Amino acid sequence: NLSEKLDQALHTLKGHGKINEVNVAETLKEVRRALLDADVNFKIAKQFTNTVKDKAMGQDVLTTLNPGQLMVKIVKDELTELMGGDTVGINLGGSPTVILMSGLQGSGKTTFSGKLANFLKTKKTKQVLLVGCDVYRPAAINQLQVVGEQIGVEVYAEEGNQNPVEISQNAIKHAKANGKNVVIIDTAGRLAVDEEMMTEISNIHKAVNPNETLFVVDSMTGQDAVNTAKAFNDVLNFDGVVLTKLDGDTRGGAALSIKSVVNKPIKFIGTGEKMDAIDVFHPDRMADRILGMGDVVSLVERAQEQYDEAEARKLQKKIAKNQFGFDDFLNQIQQIKKMGSMKDLVGMIPGAGKALKGMDIDDDAFKGIEAIIHSMTPSERSTPSSINASRKKRIAKGSGTSVQEVNQLMKQFDQMSKMMKMMQGGGGKRMMQMMKG
Ligand code: GDP
Ligand code: MG
Repeated sequence: NLSEKLDQALHTLKGHGKINEVNVAETLKEVRRALLDADVNFKIAKQFTNTVKDKAMGQDVLTTLNPGQLMVKIVKDELTELMGGDTVGINLGGSPTVILMSGLQGSGKTTFSGKLANFLKTKKTKQVLLVGCDVYRPAAINQLQVVGEQIGVEVYAEEGNQNPVEISQNAIKHAKANGKNVVIIDTAGRLAVDEEMMTEISNIHKAVNPNETLFVVDSMTGQDAVNTAKAFNDVLNFDGVVLTKLDGDTRGGAALSIKSVVNKPIKFIGTGEKMDAIDVFHPDRMADRILGMGDVVSLVERAQEQYDEAEARKLQKKIAKNQFGFDDFLNQIQQIKKMGSMKDLVGMIPGAGKALKGMDIDDDAFKGIEAIIHSMTPSERSTPSSINASRKKRIAKGSGTSVQEVNQLMKQFDQMSKMMKMMQGGGGKRMMQMMKG
């Protein structure tokens, strides 16, 4: 899928080298190929990689950050932009609010009508009326009725009436008379865009003048989704897009292209057949998902939750004064352990899940380190530079480890101290921002 391909594309940059004209061009070629493979419109893919290139070349080369991460960040920001930047809600004005569903047959209109009704009912305490306007297939009205029953929402339908314009107008009257403040109109779709369907939905649209017209599209249909979106938008000038079936093995191309082709925001996503499988669309989270960045946001949130602020401030002072010692190191390890089981945490780190697959990571990973530090005297812990060869031998013996292991820890400690010092100089903030996106 797209995220794996991008992962591969960015891999070349990960961990080594600096950003320069050659490796950026090389990486972007791969990124572009990945986007095209994911059914992203050619023009958009090209435009996208050009923007990323400009941004990447304009960056100061940050020696503290690896260029791969920087590229991921730039690509992620651009993806977010491409998908609309901010989250856009739906218009709940009007009395009642009228919401019209449009889209091809099988795109998920009926399912989404139910999901949205349920969402509005529970989240926004609205009184919702569902309206069945798919008059051609008797099973369709029945399907909506089943959905309505499931979520406890009334369904308005007129048996025998083949005129969806009339039905929707009557439904709005019915809503007004019965204290409903939201009317969701589910309509008929066809397997492909055709004139009859377009005329019908356009007539309903004109007759009810909806507060919100949503275009529902199966995210697995790739490039076709973009063409269909364009056709519906030309007729309805809809307000927003609903991407369904994102729980499947979707290629992601639709989400990337639709916004830029029709210039309408994606507002909701469907992630399953159940009535609660609905999510407000967040471009940045979608970008994360596409990039396979793991659940970085939750990782950062979790870390912040668990990390003692006061402790952190104390530590910062020590680092600034060059007083960071092994006791603090031990403390850090304990902080990390508090955040949860290692496996859990590692799974949240972008890319790490794959790299460490099959490896058995558990809290014991720190055991040796802790034993070594515990075998140091307090003065050795606070002044690591005092640990000479004979002390190392003693520490190794006391902790049941080898001198090599002690040396390795000393080296890790050294690197960590250096890194922490660097992070003090603004790099840390930058890194946090990067992680949060
Ligand atoms: P409509 O013809 O546009 O009304 O589409 P339906 O609502 O009848 O949906 C068509 C099929 O897609 C049904 O089998 C739904 O259960 C399924 N479906 C709809 N939305 C989703 C979704 O978000 N995820 C998955 N996995 N299936 C969905
Ligand atoms: Mg339907």
